[in-house]
Amino acid sequence: MKKIAILGSTGSIGTQTLEVVEKNQDLQVTALAAGGNVRLMEQQIRKFRPALACMGDEEKAKELRRLTADLDVRVTAGMEGLLEVATEPRSEILVTAIVGMIGIRPTIAAMEAGKDIALANKETLVTAGHIIMPLAEEKGVKILPVDSEHSAVFQCLNGEDKRAVHKILLTASGGPFRGWTREMLAKVQVEDALKHPNWSMGRKITIDSSTMVNKGLEVMEAKWLFGVEMDQIQVVVQPQSVIHSMVEFEDGAVMAQLGVPDMKLPIQYALYYPERRFLPGERLDFAKLGNISFEEPDSKVFRGLFLAYEAGRKGGTLPVVYNAANEYAVAKFLQREISYLSITEMIEKAMEHHRVILQPGVEEILAAEQETYTFLESRW
Ligand code: NDP
Repeated sequence: MKKIAILGSTGSIGTQTLEVVEKNQDLQVTALAAGGNVRLMEQQIRKFRPALACMGDEEKAKELRRLTADLDVRVTAGMEGLLEVATEPRSEILVTAIVGMIGIRPTIAAMEAGKDIALANKETLVTAGHIIMPLAEEKGVKILPVDSEHSAVFQCLNGEDKRAVHKILLTASGGPFRGWTREMLAKVQVEDALKHPNWSMGRKITIDSSTMVNKGLEVMEAKWLFGVEMDQIQVVVQPQSVIHSMVEFEDGAVMAQLGVPDMKLPIQYALYYPERRFLPGERLDFAKLGNISFEEPDSKVFRGLFLAYEAGRKGGTLPVVYNAANEYAVAKFLQREISYLSITEMIEKAMEHHRVILQPGVEEILAAEQETYTFLESRW
């Protein structure tokens, strides 16, 4: 029986992780954490019977305690609760499916407690990769990628010598605005940006996919996960989303991982690594697919992707600013307070304003996040 804890169990990755658990008798959930969705958390507790649950704040925790009074579950709240879920003594692996930099501390705590990490929360690696990767080495824990692109690269690298990697080719669908001009983007509304052509995901990451900021975050995530330089990572637009990413080796051989777009595959792969298990669902039908096409991303239209390269190359606290400015801007856009193009404009301005600190500790990372919010609040 493999025991798992999940941060962000009520979200897109969290619920799909629980679907994988439901289909596999040898997975057991020991602890769950979510933000505000008390009703769904109650249902999850009734179904999966974890010993521990955590809500975003005490108010929500109280409500959950009332709803689950007949069950044997301890309910906690806030950062303290997240840390408890992350380090729940019986769990072997923590799925980090929470959104934002709030994932950093619990991820570190879980690693210090010897847990493997099934990592979906890319913000943790983007902003604290220099802390997370050496810590994984020191503690002998695995960082197993859940992001489909990184899982694809991870699968391509299985059994290979990582020193023979020449280049990582991260694929991107190009999002709903592939082929658009900046003039066209100026008119984009929230509803347009929330329509992703191939993947069904949380709201924030769906907006990030449309701006290609998500791809920018993924490039920085790949840098840490696979120990390569930013310039060894190339983004290739592959609109059908069937090639999930590729690796080019020194001898020119290119390995790719393909499949229908379904996050349950990388989630299940991370939970059972290195074993593969049967996963019910659609399969690739190449005859129906017809062709797979490739394009270069448009650097003038998708500025956010190229700002990520700048942030990743300079490093230090600059990726924190990139990520925080984007989080702030996307929240404003979703509240219809700023225009679509302002998202990348805000990231650019925040990056220009920031004085980079190299090798920041967790406190400095969180301070750079706050500083970015304060700067943007004073401007927009
Ligand atoms: P969602 O917005 O769907 O879910 C986020 C989860 O985090 C929810 O369970 C939410 O709880 C919880 N949460 C938010 N704030 C808090 C808090 N303060 N305390 C505890 N829990 C909290 O996001 P996704 O599932 O889409 O994404 C999660 C992470 O995975 C992100 O980092 C994303 O970049 C990454 N990722 C997502 C992919 C996808 O396909 N969706 C693919 C690859 C990576 P509640 O809803 O109850 O408030």
